[in-house]
Amino acid sequence: MILKNCRFILTQDPKRRVLENCDIRIEDDKIAEIAPNIKERDDKVDFSKKVVMPGMINTHVHLPMTLFRGYSDNLGLHDWLKKMMAEEAKLTAEQVYWGTMLGCLESLQFGTTTAADFYYYPYERAKAVEKMGLNAFLDSTVLDKPFFFKDAQEAINHSEKFIKDMQEYKKITPVATCHSIYLCGTDTLEKIRDISNKYNVIRRIHVSETERELKASLKNNKATPIEYLNKLDWLDDKTMLVHCNWATNMELRMIRDKGCKINHNPVSNMKLAYGKAMPLKKMLEMGITVSLATDGPTSNNNLDLFDDMKVSALMHKFELNDPMGIPDQDIFDMGNIQGAKALKITDKTGSIEPGKWADLIAMDVNKPHFTPLNKNNSILSHIIYCSSGQDVSETMVRGKFLVREGKFTNCNPEEIMSKVQELMGD
Ligand SMILES: [Zn+2]
Repeated sequence: MILKNCRFILTQDPKRRVLENCDIRIEDDKIAEIAPNIKERDDKVDFSKKVVMPGMINTHVHLPMTLFRGYSDNLGLHDWLKKMMAEEAKLTAEQVYWGTMLGCLESLQFGTTTAADFYYYPYERAKAVEKMGLNAFLDSTVLDKPFFFKDAQEAINHSEKFIKDMQEYKKITPVATCHSIYLCGTDTLEKIRDISNKYNVIRRIHVSETERELKASLKNNKATPIEYLNKLDWLDDKTMLVHCNWATNMELRMIRDKGCKINHNPVSNMKLAYGKAMPLKKMLEMGITVSLATDGPTSNNNLDLFDDMKVSALMHKFELNDPMGIPDQDIFDMGNIQGAKALKITDKTGSIEPGKWADLIAMDVNKPHFTPLNKNNSILSHIIYCSSGQDVSETMVRGKFLVREGKFTNCNPEEIMSKVQELMGD
């Protein structure tokens, strides 16, 4: 297939080239060639009014929390968590399956081609993700108190079994997860660390979210949260640290030295009133990999990473009292290539380059909010400050259009929405 005469291609290749009026040839699941006027020997699709970019990579999300959208607004993290966990404890496998289906539907609609999901009922989520066609990283999240399992050991065993069983699913990569240091004790943290090392899979944790967590860790562990993880040998290049708003300079040096990755969830952080923007500028200056994420749709409340790009750009200009803030290119990188780096899949996806999976999205630029488009502005500025996920007209994962001209190609959205409405409607 050839995507013909793309108005712009934001390649995100190492030179961050933006190409104009070029074609993209796709062979099976991969990008085969990018050049002007590729000889038309395949099916062709007119992209002359479209901007093409890599699919968005959402490195931290709780897909089934679509079920609780709008249920728990206007609370700080710890009250929010208490309210949510009381409801989540009652969830059935069927609800989680359909909540994941809805989360995938929304992700694809908004141009996300890879999602790292963090939740419970992993087999139901795997079935949903496989059916919907996204690339996914999935886990069975572990915490100490009885929560779907009689104790932490049973939850850990389930997490390990899921990691072993995931070989049969083509688009799924398993992950080892502890919920947080406030819900997992030292023993659980060490066991999940060992499982991650044994199977060589990513391990991750919510950490350094609030001042309350920081103070509790100083009191209970005699160390700041990331310092405590470091003492437990939790930090290495397989580690994804979610949030890190309250990370100290000493902790940032540990993160840099150990090669850990950080997931930035700006909309959720502001909505849950974390009290402090993560020190993103410092992190980037230190060469730490930071990727973008929505967090769950109960604290965002959607799965639109374009919102998170814009909010992140604005948050850090405001916080730094500097209109330069974070360069636009760095903001855009966090939504795709840095996500691939965090998930260790830069050889497969995250940019539009020959040999990589054809994971790409398109937007129609023939719209009022993209006009004018000329030499005095840039398409990148329009994408960050003017666009939203609603503008995505095509979502392609591994060479297959899952959204084409705004319509889903491989599922019935009405069925998914009405099923969730039926399960959660009263
Ligand atoms: Zn989260």
